[in-house]
Amino acid sequence: MRVGMGFDIHRVAEGRQLVLGGVVVPWAGKGLQGHSDADVIFHAVCDALLGAIGAGDIGNYFPDTDHRWKNTASGIFVTKVLELVEKRGFRVENVDITVLAEEPKLAPHQLNIRRSIAKTLGIEPARVNVKAKTMEQLGPIGQQEAIAAYAVVSVGT
Ligand code: MG
Repeated sequence: MRVGMGFDIHRVAEGRQLVLGGVVVPWAGKGLQGHSDADVIFHAVCDALLGAIGAGDIGNYFPDTDHRWKNTASGIFVTKVLELVEKRGFRVENVDITVLAEEPKLAPHQLNIRRSIAKTLGIEPARVNVKAKTMEQLGPIGQQEAIAAYAVVSVGT
């Protein structure tokens, strides 16, 4: 068994869709700034998977200078990283996510996000956990200037 961890953060932006774990979360016309769809959960999951197999980070594979990835749904990145994980002879055992967001409230979307991550990884939702925390109004995340996510994954042979 091997373990990997990932982290990602994106700035809040007006006029963008908020996409978390492949799920569009309505948020009064606000979302996250980024070259792709800025899905912090999927970006953190990619880095966690790459970490678990010792294969670098998301920027090595999907640089934000590459026009191919402009406004891309980040589930594609997860799918491509997963292919690499499987090629190395591993399968995903479980994923644990912590999202740091002051707003919007994620509780109503937690189950959908969990199902979406599970579907993208080809595992049962019981192997995926999604937690949401605020930053108690502290710092850039607490002031709603950014949203971040941590991901920990374990993979086995
Ligand atoms: Mg990112």
